[in-house]
Amino acid sequence: MTNITGDQALVKKINMSIILNTIIRFAPLSRAKVSELTGLNKATVSNLVLELCDNHLVQEIGPGESSGGRKPRMLLFNGKAGYAVGVEIRLAQMMAVLTDLEGNIIAENESSLEQHDVSSVLNTMILLVKDLMVLAPSSHYGIVGVGVGVPGMVDSDGIVLFAPNLGWEGVPLRQLLEDEIGVPVTIDNEANAGAQGELRFGAGRDTQHLLYISAGSGIGSGIIINGELYTGARGYAGETGHMSIEADGKACTCGNRGCWELYASEKAYDLAGARLPSRLTSELVSLAEQGHAESILHFAEIGRFLGIGITNLVNSFNPQSVVIGGPLSDARDWLQKPMQEVVSQRTLPYHRERMEVRFAELGSRSTVIGAAYSATSHFLGPVRVSMPVKLT
Ligand SMILES: [Zn+2]
Repeated sequence: MTNITGDQALVKKINMSIILNTIIRFAPLSRAKVSELTGLNKATVSNLVLELCDNHLVQEIGPGESSGGRKPRMLLFNGKAGYAVGVEIRLAQMMAVLTDLEGNIIAENESSLEQHDVSSVLNTMILLVKDLMVLAPSSHYGIVGVGVGVPGMVDSDGIVLFAPNLGWEGVPLRQLLEDEIGVPVTIDNEANAGAQGELRFGAGRDTQHLLYISAGSGIGSGIIINGELYTGARGYAGETGHMSIEADGKACTCGNRGCWELYASEKAYDLAGARLPSRLTSELVSLAEQGHAESILHFAEIGRFLGIGITNLVNSFNPQSVVIGGPLSDARDWLQKPMQEVVSQRTLPYHRERMEVRFAELGSRSTVIGAAYSATSHFLGPVRVSMPVKLT
């Protein structure tokens, strides 16, 4: 990224981003249409489109429909001008994807994660990322960045402040990874990355007010308000797993009692004690598929508790849609009904109207795809870009 040295440079950069964003969203379209949609005059559009073409981010295709006179040449976003890698750190597993600039998945990779100390996790990550980087087709920009979704609180310098499930505090992950792989790195909370993934490419497309709930080893939420991620005063918003749903409930490691995630995430498997034969969601899901009564009953109970927390959030935020992602979404068949029942019985009637509770469309990939998007949008510029979904 170049430094901004004056107002004119800033205005140019913003205009360029607006034009690029418009081409990404509405392509194929003519320069005249870009001018009409953005309100920028034709000379400005022509100059900046020329620069975007020179930068290989926009390309022209043959003439489009004309309403008379010379047929206009149509503009396209060049999604193959570069590639990004997205990574998600989970408790027992690390996932990674290579995408083009439009979010199409080119390749995927994953690895089990047994050790959680920083150097083990970093080494696994470097191997996964490097394996994917060499698979990128040749392009003008090559790998534009790597985005990582982390189960914990992250600051704007890419430092993982606190990730209790990994046992991490104050880990400068962005710096550590950049030093090893030599491309720009973005670090996001996994629920925030998942919210971006679903907002841009999944169940949240065309949504302006979205709550993304990531349910796995704990619960975190990505809050989208007016199409933008709400991060709070210092970037820590969305720790919904630690809102109390039982005033004098079980003690939580966070210091509070009766936290939502003790009842509605994988932590709730402990509530069933020995009656549940496994503590792994994947194993419980396959047991439930075979009709195992205790597993089915327990998922129903988790679904009910999910519904209680969702009711609190819907009453607070009045979202258009709530999207549930993360590893527990694999149990959607058993969670959904009891969860929906609670939401429809308990949510305020006006809040419930035209509000949807859905499961993530990208399945277990919401966070990796959102993390890759974060790296891509960091590369493309200051104005957020919306891109059509094209999953392979
Ligand atoms: Zn807590």
